[in-house]
Amino acid sequence: MNKLFTCITITLALTACNATVKTNTTSITNIPETSVETPKNIIMVVADGMGPAYTTAYRYFKDDKTTAHIEETVFDRHLLGLSSTYPARESGYITDSAAGATALSAGIKTYNGAIAVDVNKKPVNTVLQWAKKQGKKTGVVVTSQVNHATPAAYITHNESRENYNAIADSYLDNGINTDLILGGGWKYFIREDRNLVSEYIQADFQYIDNYQAISQLAPQKPVLGLFAEVGLPAALDDSNPHRLSMMTKAATSHLANDNGFFLLVEASQVDWAGHGNDIASAMAEMDDLAKTMEYLELYVKNNPDTLVVLTADHSTGGLTVAANGKYIWQPALLHQIKKSPKTLAKQLAKSDLTQNEISTILNFEVSKLEAQQLQQAKYKGFEQREKYRNLSKTAQAKMKEPSVEKFMHKAVKRLIDSRTNTGWTSGGHTGIDVPIYALGKQHDIFSGQLDNTDIAEKLFSLLGKKQ
Ligand SMILES: [Zn+2]
Repeated sequence: MNKLFTCITITLALTACNATVKTNTTSITNIPETSVETPKNIIMVVADGMGPAYTTAYRYFKDDKTTAHIEETVFDRHLLGLSSTYPARESGYITDSAAGATALSAGIKTYNGAIAVDVNKKPVNTVLQWAKKQGKKTGVVVTSQVNHATPAAYITHNESRENYNAIADSYLDNGINTDLILGGGWKYFIREDRNLVSEYIQADFQYIDNYQAISQLAPQKPVLGLFAEVGLPAALDDSNPHRLSMMTKAATSHLANDNGFFLLVEASQVDWAGHGNDIASAMAEMDDLAKTMEYLELYVKNNPDTLVVLTADHSTGGLTVAANGKYIWQPALLHQIKKSPKTLAKQLAKSDLTQNEISTILNFEVSKLEAQQLQQAKYKGFEQREKYRNLSKTAQAKMKEPSVEKFMHKAVKRLIDSRTNTGWTSGGHTGIDVPIYALGKQHDIFSGQLDNTDIAEKLFSLLGKKQ
């Protein structure tokens, strides 16, 4: 009932809106109808794992405490609706990133793990592939490896997201359909059995492997840019904590052409921070995404013939802003954390440290009790490792050697949670609806309660595909 009402409202609003545009345009110029309604450039931004708690948390994380009000964020300015994220019936209510990305790229529900194939494992057309066929340039910018679930579900097809090498191979073997690829993943492109980078160069691509080279790209020549073995370093550990916005800027200027472009941008590591229940990394990834969206706001202002849509494929970690019955959330501490908890844990695991030394590494004052808790986590790690080392070889083969760093990593994250009063309910995905944001030409058709498949359907119809 609600959905029906929303549909009617949107249809009416659209009809009204189009009617006005058409009348105005025909009286002034003779631009063909399609160029009025269809944005020349479409930028789809997927924030992997970004449920509504992430954008809420980010608002308070960025709040300037010296002012009376709480400042709005770039997300607050463009919120339009909510999207359901459930996968095909056989995978229940909770999606993974592959089925979620396939819904967003192809407009169909499929099983968890599927890369742009339907429940019968049959390949399905994606918006990126369709845009390419319409003569647009296409690009993909991610902070994960470029053959990870989300980018793969726009570029190619595979029955399983786990087939990383086959997915990378297919980017070439199925016919190159992407003019620009930026992200991580040397490991999958430069292998013993095949060097995909050389093959891309033979196909007349320019290849770059460091951020500095991004500013010196030859215009017009397609580009493959891989900047890490697998995913890029976490925002907190990267030489450029705003690498997503930097790559997005480069992509928009590289892809600009008379026929327009389709660009997929993925803030891949919001999800990884969520899986790790790591609020410090989550806010750093959100900050990179916010910078990207602020840049895209400006881009739309200068290039009004552009549509930008941002949504998430699902929420991750069950993040909550405040926990344990206490009505407080204190994100200020997060601004002092300059390295990821994983990197901090490595430094803390090295040797016995005093309370002061721990405070110096973490870049915030820890109490005597907190210092003791961190030391205890380290001893627990040593103890478990000793136990493992005393096992027989056959018993050892059945399990991984416990890592002291892992114990420390968990302890550092729990300390940050306790200081900020952040809560998590899961190490996996959750089924809550995710926010939809849109700006630029035709942005208003993305409002209301939508399903993830509606987003692809709307993009297809903007790109002139009859359903
Ligand atoms: Zn995930």
